[in-house]
Amino acid sequence: AAKRARLGTSVYEPSLDVHNAAQLTVISDLRHAIDQAELVLHYQPKADARTGAVCGAEVLCRWQHPRLGLLGPDRFIPAAEETGLIEPLTRYVLDHALAQCHAWHLTGWDVPVSVNVGAQCLHDTTFPDQVAGLLARHGRPASALTLEITESAIIADPIRASDVLTKLRELGVRLSIDDFGTGYSSIAYLRTMPVHEMKIDRSFTTNMRTDASSGAITRSLLGLAQNLELEVVAEGVEDEETWSALAALGCDIVQGYCLSRPLPPDDFATWLRDRVLG
Ligand code: C2E
Ligand code: CA
Ligand code: CA
Ligand code: CA
Repeated sequence: AAKRARLGTSVYEPSLDVHNAAQLTVISDLRHAIDQAELVLHYQPKADARTGAVCGAEVLCRWQHPRLGLLGPDRFIPAAEETGLIEPLTRYVLDHALAQCHAWHLTGWDVPVSVNVGAQCLHDTTFPDQVAGLLARHGRPASALTLEITESAIIADPIRASDVLTKLRELGVRLSIDDFGTGYSSIAYLRTMPVHEMKIDRSFTTNMRTDASSGAITRSLLGLAQNLELEVVAEGVEDEETWSALAALGCDIVQGYCLSRPLPPDDFATWLRDRVLG
């Protein structure tokens, strides 16, 4: 924590690039953004690979910046991670996503939500209690929530991460390993980590039909997941042919532009209504 930059001072991590004025504005505005609810959540549907039935939505954060417009997560998540703001940001995202999940439940749609969680949260032993508190506040069962975690978050401190993940699993929250195949020494950890689901990174799936090595990696990741009895989500599925190929290989769930881009909540509801009612 001593290494972390403090907001409101001129001490920033070198990797944040002090010469980039726009980036500095972003960091100094981020806490304000969380307090003022300027962060907006978009929802991207996931579907059963065989039947096409919608089975959940990934929650993707954007920032409606008053001067810079709508910023994607790549513009502020890395800064949030380096300045300690990722924990309040993650609580914000969980809080709003579970509120949305409850609102959809009241209209008759049970759409489980998947929320992205970075390394800091997995190393915070109070995180499982925070999650339990938010589920209770919004009256949602733990089964309505999946947490997507990256391999690098686990590898940074495997013992503490395993502790936090075990508590989350005991709560009944689903755990997913995100961007699988892009981290290091992941396969050894997979065996010992209490996760339910593997997400194959879109760098492999998007090009699997045109690039032989992407295809080979996708097939071997699917085989690995099946042997470990993990559910597999393929992200970045952009066309019908790739969807069919993945279904034929036994992939369980697909997500990507082929189904829909991430949508604001109202558009997501419209999309879902059109799809369900034809
Ligand atoms: P991710 O978790 O791997 O999210 C998937 C990204 O792929 C999203 O980008 C999504 O819009 C994009 N995508 C989905 N389908 C397709 C497709 O068919 N083709 C292509 N080319 N791209 C597709 P996005 O929304 O820009 O998010 C980028 C990253 O930001 C996420 O990667 C995630 O790591 C991070 N992120 C987003 N929201 C949050 C958050 O609330 N908390 C944390 N900690 N990280 C977040
Ligand atoms: Ca994700
Ligand atoms: Ca991913
Ligand atoms: Ca990714």
